Amino acid sequence: MDYQKILNTIHEEMSYRDVKGKVASYIPELAKIDRKKFGMHVYCGDQQHFSFGDSNENFSIQSISKVFTLAMTMRIMGEDLWDRVDVEPSGDPFNSLTQLEYEHGIPRNPFINAGALVISDILVDQLHDPKQELLNFVRKITGDPNIHYDKRVAASEKATGYRNVALVNYIKALGNIKCDVEPIVDFYFHQCSLAMNCKDLAKAFMIFANKGRMLETGEKILKPKTVKRINALMQTCGFYDEAGEFSFQVGLPGKSGVGGGIVAIHPNNYSVAVWSPILNEKGNSELGMKALERFTTLTGVSVF
Ligand code: GLU
Repeated sequence: MDYQKILNTIHEEMSYRDVKGKVASYIPELAKIDRKKFGMHVYCGDQQHFSFGDSNENFSIQSISKVFTLAMTMRIMGEDLWDRVDVEPSGDPFNSLTQLEYEHGIPRNPFINAGALVISDILVDQLHDPKQELLNFVRKITGDPNIHYDKRVAASEKATGYRNVALVNYIKALGNIKCDVEPIVDFYFHQCSLAMNCKDLAKAFMIFANKGRMLETGEKILKPKTVKRINALMQTCGFYDEAGEFSFQVGLPGKSGVGGGIVAIHPNNYSVAVWSPILNEKGNSELGMKALERFTTLTGVSVF
């Protein structure tokens, strides 16, 4: 497969001018990003990799970080996690509070904010320094020691994240949060502020394409069963209330974030990351989704 040729075709075919959406602005710091940014990176199982555009430029990965914290939590508590978080698509916006009341504080899945905040609670409870441990985890699976939190993005979200604070308080009132609210939201705002590029993200997600093992060393990071669970959740819940549309258009498990990044994988084959900060109405990167639709069409490879 000539991946570079396929990526060049996508780069030539598409531009930020073709999409009408808006850059996320509810976290003020995110509104400052240049809407013209567009990059893509493919990492293959034979360790070859291919890219175009702004694929080496860091951006705010936002909810893509929920895949990393889910992986860390499953390493700590395995299947017991599912007593506290469910595995069903929500069909509601990512920051919704409504389902929690009648579902007794059990979030629908780990990728909506309610689920990610329960996961933050577990990591804050179980780890001495969760922020450092998350950095260690992503630095290890990318091999990039320079990955950091973007303190300005974290502070910007902290200043405006009333809904996330409300979610933690509400879930705590319903009995599914153990720790104090402040350290949970502080950890959550930091995880969302992780600054990474398409190259790092494609590399990091190779553990989900490679049954939980690091490609270069063969080191086992996650059990194959954990990877099966995480990939299933990415397929069914990875794109807010547009997971069906992403499966329909692209046909890969993946995860998006409101910073405009999307990462998707093809098991045993490749991982692919794309970034364009212009979001569609559902909060997914508009150009990113189109680029990935072209990618699985031009390669003729998807999981379906
Ligand atoms: N930090 C964002 C929030 O909680 C994450 C949004 C996202 O990427 O889905 O509002």
